[in-house]
Amino acid sequence: MHLYIHLPFCLKKCNYCDFISYAGIPRGQVRRYLAALFKEMELVAARFQPRKISTLYLGGGTPSYLSGEELLDIIERVRNIFGIEEEAEITLEANPGTLTPKKLELLRLAGVNRLSLGAQSFDDALLKAMGRVHQAKDIYQAFYWAREAGFSNINLDLIYGLPGQTFSQWEDTLNQAIKLYPEHVSTYALELSIDTPWGRRQMLGDLLLPAEEEVLSMYGLACQKLKEAGFEHYEISNFARLGFKCRHNLSYWENQDYLGLGAAAASHWRGKRWQNEIAIENYCRSLEEGKLPVAEEEELDRRQKMGETLFLGLRLRKGISLKEFKDRFGEELMSVYGPEIERLVSSGLVEIREGRMVITEKGLPLANEVFLAFV
Ligand code: SF4
Repeated sequence: MHLYIHLPFCLKKCNYCDFISYAGIPRGQVRRYLAALFKEMELVAARFQPRKISTLYLGGGTPSYLSGEELLDIIERVRNIFGIEEEAEITLEANPGTLTPKKLELLRLAGVNRLSLGAQSFDDALLKAMGRVHQAKDIYQAFYWAREAGFSNINLDLIYGLPGQTFSQWEDTLNQAIKLYPEHVSTYALELSIDTPWGRRQMLGDLLLPAEEEVLSMYGLACQKLKEAGFEHYEISNFARLGFKCRHNLSYWENQDYLGLGAAAASHWRGKRWQNEIAIENYCRSLEEGKLPVAEEEELDRRQKMGETLFLGLRLRKGISLKEFKDRFGEELMSVYGPEIERLVSSGLVEIREGRMVITEKGLPLANEVFLAFV
């Protein structure tokens, strides 16, 4: 079973962030949240009786905002309540400015074996403009400490298309990341929502963003450099060394079942999708009243399940197996989506090869257009 836990706390809100995360939450509230989370674990385990955990992902927010002891406690409760497989992948997202050797040691003791560092950029001026709490030197330091503590599976998250970012600044960030020799790199193009300070500035025309062609070239550069450095480009935004694909995220792209705990966490389980209450107050109150904190729930129909399997699976470079689709849904892919697929094939965005449908090189930067065909 795949389990996600959302820890929505940050030291400070970044200027571009629209994730569900809150800064400046008093410690008392954090403790209340953790008590609610533990209650949710019990209710969810009793209700769904899932198998032991094969991947656990602690995301946020900034999970590393919590103390080493609090994180240890969370993982121990998961172990006692759900059970964790021996070979499980246990990931923790961390902000480089919130790690210490002691905390990293405790995380290893708790069984965390994959660290995802929100590096974002190696350019101090850009990091400052983004509102990040760390500098480039903190990334090196955190990376070094993590290796010292025994982490042999580290991801670096990077963002491109930042206001004022030049092509050569992005190239420099990629070079620095590659030099650290991580096992995994995720690269994301900046996307701004109106609910963020940068999103509002963009609306007012007060933010100088790189042109669209430049952002596409930045993506192309990441694909090229990371490939040259020995990474497999296995998902639109993700690159891994041999044996280090993120197993937890693969479960999303392969449209498998997973459970999510914590405020705003989403679950996909036996044909249903649901999302928890977003506000910490509502989330905690539900659980204090002994109820699961589900805010929205949807039963997926057959067509939705097929569409989701396609647009999630097409994110993977290996694409969708026509046979697996038929085994899963009892119908040929072409008989369900023939016209859509023919249109995408003739515009060169996808191709059918060796029994699989995959996005082409040309289609990669236009992936959203491809996904729309199946929504
Ligand atoms: S640290 Fe991450 S989750 Fe927190 S505000 Fe910044 S981008 Fe958002």
